[in-house]
Amino acid sequence: MQVTSSVPRRVTRQISVGDVKVGGDAPITIQSMTITKTADVEGTLQQIYALAAAGADIVRCTCNEIEAAEGLAQIVPRSPVPIIADIHHQYKMAMAAMEAGVDGLRLNPGNIRKPEHIKTVAAEAKDRNLPIRIGVNAGSLDPKLYEKYGGATPEAMVESAMTEIAYFDEVGFDLIKISVKASSVPLMVDAYRMLSEATDHPLHLGVTEAGPPPAGLIKATAGISTLLLEGIGDTIRYSLTADPVEEAKAGRQLLEALGLRERKNVDLIACPSCGRAEVDVIKVANEAMDAFGERKLPLQVAVMGCVVNGPGEARDADIGIAAGNKRGHLFIKGQNVAVVPEDEMVGQLVEWAEFINEHGTEAALERADLDKARREAEKDRAQLLEEQGDDANAAGEKIVEIRRKNKT
Ligand code: SF4
Repeated sequence: MQVTSSVPRRVTRQISVGDVKVGGDAPITIQSMTITKTADVEGTLQQIYALAAAGADIVRCTCNEIEAAEGLAQIVPRSPVPIIADIHHQYKMAMAAMEAGVDGLRLNPGNIRKPEHIKTVAAEAKDRNLPIRIGVNAGSLDPKLYEKYGGATPEAMVESAMTEIAYFDEVGFDLIKISVKASSVPLMVDAYRMLSEATDHPLHLGVTEAGPPPAGLIKATAGISTLLLEGIGDTIRYSLTADPVEEAKAGRQLLEALGLRERKNVDLIACPSCGRAEVDVIKVANEAMDAFGERKLPLQVAVMGCVVNGPGEARDADIGIAAGNKRGHLFIKGQNVAVVPEDEMVGQLVEWAEFINEHGTEAALERADLDKARREAEKDRAQLLEEQGDDANAAGEKIVEIRRKNKT
């Protein structure tokens, strides 16, 4: 059963980035950014294809020099997803990127500050019907705002975005999405909350410079998911110091985990293992992750360390495996369906998962010898309980030992 988030999404306007809708009732989209030189057309396209395969709906490329704009002119027509040009200091690069045919721009208000430059870009974007993201970044905030607020506060970041919107208004441009990123999770969460009160433009969420995984993943997930669960956010980007494919994967996995995007790949759940485990759960779970890889199997798959508790604890999983007495007990929706040698566990898991995906759960149960599978599972379960008792972690003995030590 896929549990979906019950929090209503904040109502935002909708814009289009190429053929991808952002905001309104559109699904929350996943973004990432290439790390190649944009002038390297083949290398950049290779990365864009890898990002799209990993789940990115929109990809951003830097446009920091004229060679990058020339590269974009060749990249955009061959890209499988819309391309956004990232512009920092030179507004002329924004003009060149639009001329190159990009699907949108990202402007950093802290870096392009002259109102006439901002308005020139917005007027051109209006003529071309192209969206612009106002990408405020705590680390590169306009120094005047930094001074006014005594630092990069949520108020300062929101004011930066609203000032930019006012310039856009002057030329009648409103195809806007906004981000107020910071590397501090509490700061970005507060800034986005404040921004979502101030405007109904769609919001692009991210924790900037989150760093390498796993800490970077945790920071980005903490910030992005806090906001998503409050109904805030229309598109997301993980900013990791890693292969950007990891960013796209993380974005997809987060949205699937929150029930905000339809699942495309396996959702692997596994027990944390304990003294009762009959197999190295960490190893088997990793083997299963590798074996499923990027297969398009939208199923929940469980890897459980023992047949004593595994099938029951993972009864909601579409399919699972639990170890016992050097054998693997396969179960579907909590019902034992087959017993296989331990070294065939992962292979059988994949094979049954493929079968369920193709023919459905009922057909899989029909092909199983349910009586035999249940008998064998009961046998191993009873034997393990006999050997280990109810207290496989020897908690009772440990408590007695702790009490004894405390007394001495
Ligand atoms: S009791 Fe079994 S299923 Fe539960 S954590 Fe321990 S090994 Fe895993």
